[in-house]
Amino acid sequence: MPGRLLSLVRPAPASSPPLDQLKGQKKHSDIPPLFPPVYSVERPSQKNKSQESLVMEAFKRHGLGGRQNSFKKSPKASPKAEPQPAAILNMVVESPPLVFFNSPQTSTGAIISGLLNLEVHEPNVTLEKMEMRLLAVVTTKKPVHQHCPDCTSQTTEIHKWEFLRGAVQLHFGQHSFPFSHLIPGHLPATTHGQITTLDYYLDAVGTLSNGKKLEYKRALDIKRSIVPGPDKHSIRIFPPTNLTASVKLPPVVHPIGDFGVEMRLSGVTQTKDDSQSRWRLRKLNWRIEETQKSISPACPKHANKVGGEGKGILHDDTRTIASEEVKTGWKTDFTEGNIDCEFRARCNIAHNPLCDMDSQSGMSVRHNLVIEMVVAEEWAPLKKLSQATPTGAARVLRTQFHLVLTERSGMGISWDEEQPPLYEDVPASPPTYIGDYDGPPLHDEHDELHLGP
Ligand SMILES: [Zn+2]
Repeated sequence: MPGRLLSLVRPAPASSPPLDQLKGQKKHSDIPPLFPPVYSVERPSQKNKSQESLVMEAFKRHGLGGRQNSFKKSPKASPKAEPQPAAILNMVVESPPLVFFNSPQTSTGAIISGLLNLEVHEPNVTLEKMEMRLLAVVTTKKPVHQHCPDCTSQTTEIHKWEFLRGAVQLHFGQHSFPFSHLIPGHLPATTHGQITTLDYYLDAVGTLSNGKKLEYKRALDIKRSIVPGPDKHSIRIFPPTNLTASVKLPPVVHPIGDFGVEMRLSGVTQTKDDSQSRWRLRKLNWRIEETQKSISPACPKHANKVGGEGKGILHDDTRTIASEEVKTGWKTDFTEGNIDCEFRARCNIAHNPLCDMDSQSGMSVRHNLVIEMVVAEEWAPLKKLSQATPTGAARVLRTQFHLVLTERSGMGISWDEEQPPLYEDVPASPPTYIGDYDGPPLHDEHDELHLGP
């Protein structure tokens, strides 16, 4: 979509460095911006707070507010009593959906760009300040201290825009403040875990000369998509038997849609002088396990509950997000000693599977495919191989494989691959030949050609 790309190269507002500069910075220093737990957001002063504003703050801290307008629905505020505000903030996001391509180590990030719009309803207003922050908010449902907002939620400022250098007078009508930022690709994607959630917000605040604040808040859904590489081949052995399972899995799988698993169980037949013993596959099950880990940090006030500052409580929870018994579809070849099976597996979307993630805050999500097989032993004389008798011996073979669960890349391409080629990328034209010609001028060549003596 080249048309949309134009918006990405708009000059960034005052506080945003140009994109190429950002990209350069990333290469120069390997120090990623600190991501939780570094709190650089100014806490509003606690003095002279009305009950209502405290309620609103609690909403903000819990990330429940969504759009700013919903904050006005506090129990004490009567909608009829609200006078027409002097101005309203709104936003148009112009950049494509925010997707980090590939792993946190290699992702080049995603660009957000858009317009912060201020609709002025009065003939004139004086705007003293206009700021916007990109915030990461980590919220836990199991805080160290119940109902403590500081234990429940931690906010990190990822970026800040300051749109004004001084007060400006704005007339009736709409005024736009363009913004853009390259959100670093090492940040974890938006994740709503069972216990801990990670959300991103754009939080804009305009301050009028009469002290009134205009606020706007918008949640950003940041996704990660690991671009698939080659299929993954893994081998598992099951001592003391001679059984070996070799499994082929796709490099990445997705929350929606199924994927194929190919497995060969070899070493199923053992032949002796006059008899054969062999394993027959009786049962085959698979399941996908999701392990969510997170740390509930303690605020300085409640640090004594966990044995000091900088400590927290680790939550580690594994749940099954899909399982099935494979009833048919395997082929047994006792001559070769192999059992081949192929089946299709998928996440159960009713369980809201999460994508893999890993955050410096201690939050992580990982997946495993667990395959469980029941094999029963049979014995047959070599002369009558078709007349096998179960020996009564049986084994459960259990093995697991790491699955990378990630968003589909869809039509998406990384922002840096969308850019028009740079001049250095264009090959020199016409191509040059390797090695220099040291001979006489070429136009004389035909004169000097002659037959050998
Ligand atoms: Zn606390």
